[in-house]
Amino acid sequence: MLDLLIKNGMVVDGSGAPRFAADLGIRAGRIVQIGKITETAAETIDASDCVVAPGFVDPHTHYDAQLLWDPFATPSTLHGVTTVIGGNCGFGLAPLGEEGADYTRRMMAKVEGMPLKTLEEGIDWNWKTFGEYLDRLDGKIACNAAFLVGHCQIRRLVMGTAATGNEATPAQVEEMKALLREAITAGGIGFSTTQAHTHQDGDGNYVASRFASSEEIIALAGVCRDHEGTTLEVIVDGCLGKFTDRETDLLIDMSLAANRPINWNVMGVGATDPDRHQHQLEAGSKAKAKGARIMALTMPTIGGLKMSFLDHCALFLIPGWEPIMQLPVPERIERLRDPETRRQMDEMARDPRAGVLTALSRWGAYVIGDTVAAENEGLFGKTIEEIAKTRGQSEQDTLFDIVCADGLETGLWPLPPDDDEASWKMRAEVWRDERALIGGSDAGAHLDRMCGASYPTGFLGDIVRDRGLFPLEEAIQLMTDKPARLFGLRERGRLEEGWHADIVVFDPATIASGPIKNRTDLPGNCDRLFAASEGIRHVFVNGREIVRDGQETGAIPGQLLRSGRDTRTVTPLD
Ligand SMILES: [Zn+2]
Repeated sequence: MLDLLIKNGMVVDGSGAPRFAADLGIRAGRIVQIGKITETAAETIDASDCVVAPGFVDPHTHYDAQLLWDPFATPSTLHGVTTVIGGNCGFGLAPLGEEGADYTRRMMAKVEGMPLKTLEEGIDWNWKTFGEYLDRLDGKIACNAAFLVGHCQIRRLVMGTAATGNEATPAQVEEMKALLREAITAGGIGFSTTQAHTHQDGDGNYVASRFASSEEIIALAGVCRDHEGTTLEVIVDGCLGKFTDRETDLLIDMSLAANRPINWNVMGVGATDPDRHQHQLEAGSKAKAKGARIMALTMPTIGGLKMSFLDHCALFLIPGWEPIMQLPVPERIERLRDPETRRQMDEMARDPRAGVLTALSRWGAYVIGDTVAAENEGLFGKTIEEIAKTRGQSEQDTLFDIVCADGLETGLWPLPPDDDEASWKMRAEVWRDERALIGGSDAGAHLDRMCGASYPTGFLGDIVRDRGLFPLEEAIQLMTDKPARLFGLRERGRLEEGWHADIVVFDPATIASGPIKNRTDLPGNCDRLFAASEGIRHVFVNGREIVRDGQETGAIPGQLLRSGRDTRTVTPLD
């Protein structure tokens, strides 16, 4: 007898092959049969009119903290994700030294946008080693999760406060290598680091890994060479623009030292600046020529970042705006209501000297997110352009009036640039490129600014079905088998007999990401941005249902994935 039978579904198995009608039989967490099944089952699910696919693998998350208070990794699992990779960008929560927790919390709050109060109240920080941290999650999570070992954490542990501002001595590098070896032996799936200027700790200093020499970074990457099923991840300044030769060389040298692929996050693709992503992909070609492998993560949706007149964001950077935006809220509102101030702010925002920030002066091109005031009710999801037209008011006045009425709390979502045919055509080419991988959600991080976690349903609903820009089978392959093969996940990423039963059942006619809304459900009563899913009927992890009709069931069958045991080695040439 089967544990579970999924009947009458349309199977898209993750290999890229055309869909076919079949039943799926599951026993003891594994798929045991695919085809016409007559065997009886403890539970039978009718998947008529639904697609049955492998669960999605999100290669770039920061669920390191959230999984400790939210074993369901919401909202990712609600969108069909069954495996997440954490410990990215050089940041993790382990190992912890004596002073560890306070510094780590403040760094994570600053660099990854997790509320400090949430990190203080939602987690007991009761571990020291990387292995102890992994054990805390083992058997207590709904999805499968694997964690890279972050450079910053081991550097701080070895060098203490001297990790900020100093190169390591050869002895300290040896100590870091030993710690990394220990963490990987305990199950860490590789090494991550950051060299980006944008990454600062809670004291406003660059994070520890920024002070590492290339030799130190390459030596640490090299530790992975001796460990089965490991990989590398990195962020450098060029991820946002173009790589310098030094950066490309560093990535190649890391990959060669480890004999592993290295992925970086996240490549924007658009018709306004096609040179940028072509240049970034070129690093992948240079790597290949040298026997290394560089993979660019890139998103299949264009989500954007939330802005507001309340909290620091790009609006605060417009030249000349600062004296107004720095005022206490009541005074700021008073100034924003003043017609002459508005006129001046408009002028400053349009001034060519504001450079790329002049794009922010397209007042009509903001979509209204969450609002507070009664008079703003019903504006959610509308553009300023639409609202201004119905009000017979200028776009700038419309925007400023809404924002002032809300006490500046209005969520503003600039309409994404490059939402045009040429840009989408370019993206589709990049998704198929062997130097790129779909991912880069940053799920679990930047909780006040974005919600990238919903990309699988956004991709399948908006891009694949509504716009018809990409075939379903291929889209699923790029979110399942392709990432699973890059990380060497054993028997995951495809629907195959004998493989783990990580499965999503969805309605292709209705699958979509819901709108991004504010939600107050973090420990410490803090807010986050959240998007629900539509059309996700069932999500199974290791044969057990973790999501039904877009809601978590409460089951926690997820596997804490450990290097070697749950991952096989992938080399640059694989
Ligand atoms: Zn990240």
